[in-house]
Amino acid sequence: MLTERNRLLARLALMLAAGFLAVSLGAFWVSRDSLRNSLIDEALPLTSDNIYSEIQKDILRPVFISSLMANDTFLRDWILSGEQDIGQLSRYLREIKQKYGTLTSFFVSARSANYYHIGGVLKQVRPDEPRDAWFYRVRDMAAPYELNVDPDAANRDLRTIFINYRVLDYNGGFIGATGVGLPLGLVAEQIEAYEKRFRRRIYFLDHAGRVVLASATFRPEGASIREMPGIGDIAERILQREAAPAPLEYELNGATILVNARHIPELDWHLVVEQGDSEAIGPLRRVLAINLGIAALVTALVLATALFAINRYQRRLEEAAATDPLTGALNRQAFDVVFNLALREAQRNDQPLSAILIDIDLFKQVNDTHGHLAGDRVLRSVADIVRQQLRDADVVARWGGEEFLVLLKDCPLTGAVAVADKLRAAVAGHEFGPLGAGGPAQRLTISLGVGTRLAGDTAETLFSRADRALYLAKRNGRNRVEAAEA
Ligand code: GH3
Ligand code: MG
Ligand code: MG
Repeated sequence: MLTERNRLLARLALMLAAGFLAVSLGAFWVSRDSLRNSLIDEALPLTSDNIYSEIQKDILRPVFISSLMANDTFLRDWILSGEQDIGQLSRYLREIKQKYGTLTSFFVSARSANYYHIGGVLKQVRPDEPRDAWFYRVRDMAAPYELNVDPDAANRDLRTIFINYRVLDYNGGFIGATGVGLPLGLVAEQIEAYEKRFRRRIYFLDHAGRVVLASATFRPEGASIREMPGIGDIAERILQREAAPAPLEYELNGATILVNARHIPELDWHLVVEQGDSEAIGPLRRVLAINLGIAALVTALVLATALFAINRYQRRLEEAAATDPLTGALNRQAFDVVFNLALREAQRNDQPLSAILIDIDLFKQVNDTHGHLAGDRVLRSVADIVRQQLRDADVVARWGGEEFLVLLKDCPLTGAVAVADKLRAAVAGHEFGPLGAGGPAQRLTISLGVGTRLAGDTAETLFSRADRALYLAKRNGRNRVEAAEA
């Protein structure tokens, strides 16, 4: 019974847990997937688009200005005529800077190696000076211009994006390099603002995968993503120039990082936006944890309710199995168990134990005159009267048809005889009401035999002594108490 109950409870718990888990985890997975997809398909590309248009505004305009300068006939004529009036060039460069709001504007002459800025000649470029290497690179390259991130010597060495445009004479010969510089701070500030607002990481790579522009310290500038843990695994896919590579992601320290990469053909750079999915999924995890907590609570409540109900029904069944349905007294089987326990305990502790056997006098007449149902009512009444006279610890059993047996623990013969006489008087003094239709109130009596425990007694020897005493009470005139010899 116990293991069967536990099996039932375990099955119930398993079913509830499985149901709750399936629902909670299913909801979590679906939301997580849709969140990840919206990050990959919408949020990250949108950030990338925004940054890209900012970059176009910020960088492509300077490229356009530099192109104007490189093709300006004034500039070319001024060089070709021997770089005479430096004031003229300074004015020109100042005009450019003021008109377009660039940070710096410059011209470097191939013939004189002079580096001009708005203040005049800043210095001379030299092939053996590492900081001037850009000029010789521009001189020899095939493309009309390049972008280069360098410190600006004319401006407190601020990191600057230089647009280095080749200036050609009218026959296509290289005569110098001109252009403007855009302070990196502006772009970096924008990137930083984006990163803060969306908790995404934004940076630029050159064609070789080196970080050219990044805010803060997340990706050290100059380092190549090919050598970085995690993102190195997908470096080749990030660095492809074809449009829109498939959704990218990599694992780092157990977290999944989602990546959006786009090639910026104007710069031959790659714009990378990344975000760990844990940021977005964190709240979902909390919801999952709350759901599972609620599920555990509900499961526990259901199990407790089930356990309570099962125990209550079990108790009722046991009670029903142990009691006589007519009188509510213990039935004979249950009484045997209770009595044997009490007898053994009394023997062990050497305590008195007494039994009173009760038989209703001339009960057959009640049945015969008023019918069996009236007899049943009398049986119930007698049981009630007997119970009322006893303490809670005393046990009353229905012994036979109209016989009851009372067990008195820790009670010697004299005490038991006194109790028996109290019972007799109570029944004799009770008015049983009209038993038949319209008949007069009726009085009934009982006879009682009392026996007490002797050394070496079994239940049977004790009961048979009480039975003999009862027989004596009947023989001596009924409505009497007789005690068995002690
Ligand atoms: P006495 O004991 O005084 O010698 O006379 P009595 O008439 O009571 O005789 P006895 O004890 O032998 O009769 C028992 C009667 O009780 C017989 C039976 O019909 C009746 N009886 C037994 N069980 C039930 C019961 O559950 N309901 C009813 N109504 N009668 C019962
Ligand atoms: Mg009898
Ligand atoms: Mg009788």
